[in-house]
Amino acid sequence: MTGRTTIHLQDESDRWRWVCPRGHRSWEPTNHHFWCQKCARLDGADGVFHELRNKKTGNLVKRDDLLLETPVGQYESREGSA
Ligand SMILES: [Zn+2]
Repeated sequence: MTGRTTIHLQDESDRWRWVCPRGHRSWEPTNHHFWCQKCARLDGADGVFHELRNKKTGNLVKRDDLLLETPVGQYESREGSA
């Protein structure tokens, strides 16, 4: 495998390709994980998760294995590099 998968956050087709572990498209990235609006509304759930599901393959992909591209650059670059 050659590194990480890029998701273009402003790209509609990328947003359709990736869903939260419960299958919603209402997720948003945060600094170290993801958050899903619909999951957050469910009883007993805080809506936070660490993997996105690739609808094509059905696989869950860890946050660490994803690159999140925004119109102003990589999402992760905001928090500095390790
Ligand atoms: Zn969800």
